[in-house]
Amino acid sequence: MAAGSSESYTVLKGKLENLPENVVIIGSHTQMDNRKEKSHPGGLLFTKFGSNQTALLDLAFPDNFGRLHDRSKEIPKAMKQLSRLFPNKVTIQLPQDEAVLSDWKLQLERDIETLKAQSNIVSIRSVLNRIGLDCPDLETLCVKDQALNTESVEKIVGWALSYQFMNHSEVSVKDAKLVISAESIMYGLNILQSIQNENKSLKKSLKDVVTENEFEKKLLADVIPPTDIGVSFDDIGALENVKDTLKELVMLPLQRPDLFCKGQLTKPCKGILLFGPPGTGKTMLAKAVATEAGANFINISMSSITSKWFGEGEKYVKAVFSLASKIAPSVVFVDEVDSMLGRRENPGEHEAMRKMKNEFMVNWDGLRTKDKERVLVLAATNRPFDLDEAVIRRLPRRLMVNLPDASNREKILRVILAKEELASDIELEAIANMTDGYSGSDLKNLCVTAAHCPIREILEKEKKEKNVALAENRPLPALYSSADVRPLKLEDFKYAHEQVCASVSSESTNMNELLQWNDLYGEGGSRKKNSLSYFM
Ligand code: ADP
Repeated sequence: MAAGSSESYTVLKGKLENLPENVVIIGSHTQMDNRKEKSHPGGLLFTKFGSNQTALLDLAFPDNFGRLHDRSKEIPKAMKQLSRLFPNKVTIQLPQDEAVLSDWKLQLERDIETLKAQSNIVSIRSVLNRIGLDCPDLETLCVKDQALNTESVEKIVGWALSYQFMNHSEVSVKDAKLVISAESIMYGLNILQSIQNENKSLKKSLKDVVTENEFEKKLLADVIPPTDIGVSFDDIGALENVKDTLKELVMLPLQRPDLFCKGQLTKPCKGILLFGPPGTGKTMLAKAVATEAGANFINISMSSITSKWFGEGEKYVKAVFSLASKIAPSVVFVDEVDSMLGRRENPGEHEAMRKMKNEFMVNWDGLRTKDKERVLVLAATNRPFDLDEAVIRRLPRRLMVNLPDASNREKILRVILAKEELASDIELEAIANMTDGYSGSDLKNLCVTAAHCPIREILEKEKKEKNVALAENRPLPALYSSADVRPLKLEDFKYAHEQVCASVSSESTNMNELLQWNDLYGEGGSRKKNSLSYFM
């Protein structure tokens, strides 16, 4: 019986009332019982069977079995209904005897596994049904170590299908449904499990790293394993050239260091600079690189040093590099690199600052001699012209991440709005055309502002209806749900456009300086033919 459902309660009640004399219905119910000591001190408690033929077996479990039944909020109503249907209650307590108890627990574990296996079969069958597939020998599968969610089952079926097609040239059809074998499903299941194991071992391996000092230890807590970064190249709209170059420069050497360690020229590149106006996706690119190369991500910036490591920058920098080597492959992302490794050597430059800069260079160079180590320094800045020459030299590849033009804005909008429900009047091209000078981050803000419009409408509607109800002394109306939120309209974007404006003006001096710097030092700049090796 669906706990708490009035409809099934009424149906069941009707059925019970119409039962013939000689039938006894026994229901079982699992209950998390914190009050067992108080209410039923030890042993079984039998209530008297009256003229009524129904009984309820009430299994009282301590908390650790709560996972079987943790819909605690629904219990009161469901319990009331149950006791009305089954007025006689037999409570069965946990066995007191140690040996019996452990036997009993074992049996319970087995029951849980059986339930899981059954529910997995049901989930797989329902996904197969939905897409017009049939697996006659599905029951032979037994997945009892986890309860598969729909997303996992869909993945399994996808892999199973490709396996089926690769291994069976003939297609068999039953009741107008394509037949897929349990063997193929097993194949899909194995892939899922091997991916899960890989992820587990990656996470575990970070926990197992032996840290040398408190600096490494503190830093380790901030390291993001590749599986947790959550940004991939697909999440970044436009910037195709930059993405392609990064893939070639970074992914390959990190993934296949063996191919790159032969001569001198193909040595893995140890430093890449991403420069351009703020909000254009530099941080996202760095994260995507780490994700797709399966590398750990260490994010450092001057602001984190000043806030967390004040006065200890030198030791911190040293720990960054020693830890990065330990957990290689890793990406060290230096945000606002100009503030940490800038050249503004004003006479008042802090001694600690100078030492830290030095430490950075020394450790960075130290990396270069160890070819096998797969540590990449990715730096980002809005002010590359403020960088120390020595730093520029150590960042042989410099990629400009520029403001997007109209067609690229459209691509970015497509990515940002991929999961939103849009009204048919929306043309992304039109929105792209009205957002000249917007960065990726401005576009994101625009979309967020637009997405709030339908929600605000609902809140206002709720408020109005509530006021009317109060005025007329009627009960308050039910609140709306997310299903009532309407799709986004062009109007919303027009409204958002009035609220959010471009944060960088393309005519600003900084923009000109950036372009000039790109011409001189950047990849694809006019000095490209003069060979970048000049700076390597
Ligand atoms: P930067 O590091 O260049 O200042 P970020 O990478 O931090 O910029 O971008 C800020 C936010 O702007 C991102 O979290 C993302 O939501 C959005 N954004 C920027 N560029 C893009 C892009 N090309 N595609 C999708 N979203 C973007």
